[in-house]
Amino acid sequence: MREVETDYLVVGAGASGMAFADTIVTNTDAEVVLVDRRHRPGGHWLDAYPFVRLHQPSAYYGVESRPLGYDRIDEDGPNAGFYERASAAEICDYYARVLDENLLPTGRVRFLGMSDHRGENDVGHRIVSLLDGSETVVKPRRRFVDATYVQSEIPSRHVPGFGVDEGVRCIPPNDLVDLDEPPERFTVVGAGKTAIDTCVWLLEAGVDPDHIRWIRGRDPWQIDRTFTQPLDLVASYMRLQAHWIGAAAGAADGTDFARRLEDRGVFVRIDPAVEPLAFRGATVSRGEIDAVRAIEHVVRARRIRRIGQTSISTESSDLPGGPNEVYVDCTAAGVPRALARPVFEPGRITIQYVAVGFLPWCAATIGFVESTEMDDEDKNRLCPPVVFTGDAADLARLAYAGLRGQVARVRDEAVGAWNQASRLNPAQALFDHIEESDVAGSLAFIVEHTRDALKNLEGAR
Ligand SMILES: Cc1cc2nc3c(=O)[nH]c(=O)nc-3n(C[C@H](O)[C@H](O)[C@H](O)COP(=O)(O)OP(=O)(O)OC[C@H]3O[C@@H](n4cnc5c(N)ncnc54)[C@H](O)[C@@H]3O)c2cc1C
Repeated sequence: MREVETDYLVVGAGASGMAFADTIVTNTDAEVVLVDRRHRPGGHWLDAYPFVRLHQPSAYYGVESRPLGYDRIDEDGPNAGFYERASAAEICDYYARVLDENLLPTGRVRFLGMSDHRGENDVGHRIVSLLDGSETVVKPRRRFVDATYVQSEIPSRHVPGFGVDEGVRCIPPNDLVDLDEPPERFTVVGAGKTAIDTCVWLLEAGVDPDHIRWIRGRDPWQIDRTFTQPLDLVASYMRLQAHWIGAAAGAADGTDFARRLEDRGVFVRIDPAVEPLAFRGATVSRGEIDAVRAIEHVVRARRIRRIGQTSISTESSDLPGGPNEVYVDCTAAGVPRALARPVFEPGRITIQYVAVGFLPWCAATIGFVESTEMDDEDKNRLCPPVVFTGDAADLARLAYAGLRGQVARVRDEAVGAWNQASRLNPAQALFDHIEESDVAGSLAFIVEHTRDALKNLEGAR
C-alpha cells in the first residue's frame, strides 16, 4: 500500500473536477491528486452518444485557462446564427489536452486513472487501481473534493427502470449508429434532451416522422438557445437575465414562474397543448422544436413497466408493439436529483451547481472561492447549492438559490472581478458591449429589479 500526501484530492475528472482543479492550480500553489475510475478525463462525455453536442456554446464550457473551440458563429445547419457547440469527440480531446498541456506540466497535479475511490478510513482516502487492485491511501492536507456528487446519468451506462423481454431490441441512443437492418419503426422512450436529440438526429438522417413513435411522460420546459449566446451576441444572454429577473419579481410559484418565462419567449414547450412539468435546464433551438413537432405519434405514458414482443405494459394501459421495432431508451436523467449539502465543510468540498446550469462555471467558481482567505461560512454564503429536482414546480426555489449566490458573488470584490473576467461566465463580454442600448437596458433592468426578485422568490418558495 502506497501513501500519498497532497493538498486537494479531487475525485472525478469530469467537467466538474477538471474545472475545479484548473482554477485551484492557477490561483494557488496547491498540489492536486485527481482520481477517476475512467481511464482519462472527460467524465460522461467519454461514453456519450455519437451525435451529442453541448447544448450551450463551447465558448463558455470547459476550464478557465483553456478555450474550447474557436468562438465561431455557425453559418448554416441547425445551429446557424449561434456560437459553435462542441461534439463529444472534441470535448474528450479538449479534456485530454487540459490534463496533458495545462495541468500536468505545472508539476503539481497527478492523475490516477482507472482508480476507484473507495471511501475514507482513519488513515486516509482509499484509492484502488481497477487494473491491478493495488491500493493507494491519499491524505489531503487541505480538502477532499467530491466531484462526483452531481455526476451525469447517461444512456449507455443507465439501466432502464422497466423490464425488457428477451428478443426485444431496446438500445441506448449510442447503438443507433450500429444498426445493420432498418426497423419497421423506432419507438423513442423519454421526454428530455436526449430524446429530443435522438428524434432530431433520426429526422435529419431522413427517417420519416411517421416511422417514429415517441413515448413521453412529463414534458420538460426547454430554454430557447437564442438566449444563451455569449461574446458578440451577449445582448441575448442579458435579455435572458432581464426576463428571468422580471419573471422572478412577479411569480407566485414555480409553475407561474415558468409560464411567465414562456410569455417572454425564453421557455419553450414541445407540445403547445401540454404544460411541461419538468425542468432540467436544457436548451433547444426553435428549429429543433419545429422538427420534433413533425412526430405525430406521441403516446403519453408516465411509467413503462415492461416491453414485450408484441405489447408494452405501462402504468395506465397496454400499448401495441411489434417484433421489428427498435426501442431507444432515453430515460437516463442526465442531471440527476441530488440532495443539497454545504459546498464547503471541514476537510471537504462537494461540487454542486451554484448557478442555474453551467456546471463548469459553477465548479470553477467554487475553486476560486476556495482560493480566497474567507472562512467556510462566507464561502458557503457565496456558494449556496442550486438543486435541480427535475420538477418545474421547484423553479422558484432553484431560482432563489441561484440569484442569492450570484448577488453575493458580484458584491465580493475579488470573486466579482474574477467572475466578470472568467471565460466560463456567459456574460463575460458584457462590458465590451455596454454601448449597445439593448445590453445597457437589460443591465439597468437587472440592477433595478433584482432586490424585488429576491424578495418575491423568497416568499414564492
Ligand atoms: C448529454 C449531456 C449534455 C450536456 N450538456 C451540457 C451543457 O451543454 N452545458 C452544461 O453546463 N452542462 C451540460 N450537461 C450537464 C453535465 O452534467 C455537465 O456538463 C458535466 O459534463 C457533468 O460533469 P461531472 O464532472 O459533474 O460528471 P461526470 O461527467 O459524470 O463525471 C464524473 C466522473 O466521476 C467519476 N467517478 C464517479 N465515482 C467515482 C469513484 N468512486 N472513484 C473514481 N471516480 C469516480 C466518473 O468515472 C466520472 O468520470 C450535459 C449533460 C449530458 C448528459
